[in-house]
Amino acid sequence: NAVADSTIKEHAAQVTAGDRRALARAITLIESTRADHRRQAEALIEELLPKSGKSLRIGISGPPGVGKSTFIEAFGQYAIAQGKRLAVLAVDPSSRLSGGSILGDKTRMEELSRADAAFIRPSPAGLTLGGVARRTREALLVCEAAGFDLIIVETVGVGQSETAVAEMVDLFLLLLLPGSGDDLQGIKRGIMELADILVINKDDGDLAAAAARSAADVANALGLMQPRHQGWRAEVLRCSALKNTGIDAIWARVQAFAATLRQSGAFDAQRRDQAKAWLWHELSDSLIEALKADPHVAQQLGALETKVGSAKIAPGTAARQLLAGFLQRG
Ligand code: GDP
Repeated sequence: NAVADSTIKEHAAQVTAGDRRALARAITLIESTRADHRRQAEALIEELLPKSGKSLRIGISGPPGVGKSTFIEAFGQYAIAQGKRLAVLAVDPSSRLSGGSILGDKTRMEELSRADAAFIRPSPAGLTLGGVARRTREALLVCEAAGFDLIIVETVGVGQSETAVAEMVDLFLLLLLPGSGDDLQGIKRGIMELADILVINKDDGDLAAAAARSAADVANALGLMQPRHQGWRAEVLRCSALKNTGIDAIWARVQAFAATLRQSGAFDAQRRDQAKAWLWHELSDSLIEALKADPHVAQQLGALETKVGSAKIAPGTAARQLLAGFLQRG
């Protein structure tokens, strides 16, 4: 309706004008699971979409304790010194259970959180990984519309969340600890293959020698991997987020990545592919939601689950029966 429309237009204008409270409110709206909020959020995103897309989106991951927040604090301040404005978002599906290491927590990035040029938002709680990823993609667009040039999406290096983050960023940066050895600290090979830039952090004091060895080990492992982007080879760098060394070289490498991919067209191609993949995620999520909300499906589901459980009917057949009934009712 017209009233809601004008409120949304006004809200969008506040966001693009750089009003932080409007930005925070927009993200809260995006994170809400209420149906009316969802409709408002979608209208707001439609309004902001033409203003989005201009940032460099960087995913940062690594095992717990590697120094992600310390690194983002140092890297973020470096970026601000270069005249950039940055937003830090987080994808942490574990935070809904543990309430523990909530990524993107302001208290973990003290200096950065006080900077006018930075905006930090912790991971939404109470959602599945799919839900967190969906909300983070939308929050990212809103931050871009608010004029941030750099969006960092932080995630913890255990499990599925890296893949979800790699699907929403331009560049994926993986932080590793000194002394990785053969097992590469529980980081799966598939995760290493997602990385465009690898960084051994804690290259300082007693850890410096181990950091050098790890860098050589990782470089060897990388030699055997397929490059993720044509014309770009993942490289290993070293830094100390704590002592603030090596950050300039990482920044230069990040800029080189963006320039190389922009020039080849791979940058825009990746964004187009990501938008298409997002559409399919939305489609399958919406379809599942609609299925679950359908009373006929609900009615049949219990009996079918029992039959599937006792091997009276194959899961594939049961799924197709349910879906056929659902689609017929339209
Ligand atoms: P996260 O769990 O990956 O976010 O890691 P944190 O940033 O919270 O850091 C974990 C611990 O490692 C903290 O005690 C940091 O002070 C320490 N740390 C982070 N970066 C460095 C570094 O470059 N050198 C050293 N020596 N310690 C670091």
